[in-house]
Amino acid sequence: MIYKLINPEIISEAGEQLGEEGCLSVPGEYENVRRADQVTLKAMNLDGDTYTIEAEGFLARVFQHEIDHLNGILFIDKLPSYKKDTLKKSIKRRIQEGDYTVTG
Ligand SMILES: [Zn+2]
Repeated sequence: MIYKLINPEIISEAGEQLGEEGCLSVPGEYENVRRADQVTLKAMNLDGDTYTIEAEGFLARVFQHEIDHLNGILFIDKLPSYKKDTLKKSIKRRIQEGDYTVTG
């Protein structure tokens, strides 16, 4: 399924889920991230009409992850600070060792 969402916004969320995420912006790094289990989004379609979508579980996670990107937030920003620090050190080490390719 392909979703084309223009200016998507999360207008409500409920519940909680914990699941592993990775991201092309942080290649090779995966961490468990706590997110809402159900979300309702408001967005425009390609005709400029506003509509809402309800999602839960993995799809709700995907929407939250991608909408965070639009707001300059990566999944690592959702981690507790000690985990974020560990991950940053891992990335710095991988860059120094030439084992880190930034894409996009
Ligand atoms: Zn991502």
